[in-house]
Amino acid sequence: MTKWPVPGSETSVVPGESKPGSFWEDRGDRFHCGVDIYAPAMSQVLACETGEVIDVGIATSPDQVSYWDTTRYVLVKTRSNLYCRYAEFADVVVHVGDRVLEGQVIGYIGAVIRPHLVDGCSPHYIQRLKLDGHISMLHFEVYRLRPGYMRNYRGGNWFGDGRPEGLLDPGPYLLNAVHGIEKY
Ligand SMILES: [Zn+2]
Repeated sequence: MTKWPVPGSETSVVPGESKPGSFWEDRGDRFHCGVDIYAPAMSQVLACETGEVIDVGIATSPDQVSYWDTTRYVLVKTRSNLYCRYAEFADVVVHVGDRVLEGQVIGYIGAVIRPHLVDGCSPHYIQRLKLDGHISMLHFEVYRLRPGYMRNYRGGNWFGDGRPEGLLDPGPYLLNAVHGIEKY
């Protein structure tokens, strides 16, 4: 059983295939490496599962893409030997080497998009996020191998052919948490 990571999310449903924010969503020039869970900025993010923080860093930055704001990520190696990347935080409250317990607050969601810089030339999915008011979210990825530096990876998306080594669909992992919450 895992824990749903965003108690304040709009829904506790994993976005289905081809829905905005779904896993491996085709975004034209890029594919989505995780799932997006929409929630207001500064919503708490909880660890889905007990594990160890093995990396913390910058997830998105205006230096990479002008319409992005600066957000951070946390990479956790879980007790079940998976690697969960939680991304698009305003604030991270854990450090590399920390043990985190399931349900522990690890950070607060940030605004990933700067709406005033999104226009008709921005990627379609970015325009849609602005239109829907979905500018803050948890971006969540799961790997069965530790993700290293990936040349084609930027801001939770994969540019080009192939896909990141060891990348998994986070759906089944999170579904476990959803069922826990809804007591199916
Ligand atoms: Zn995302």
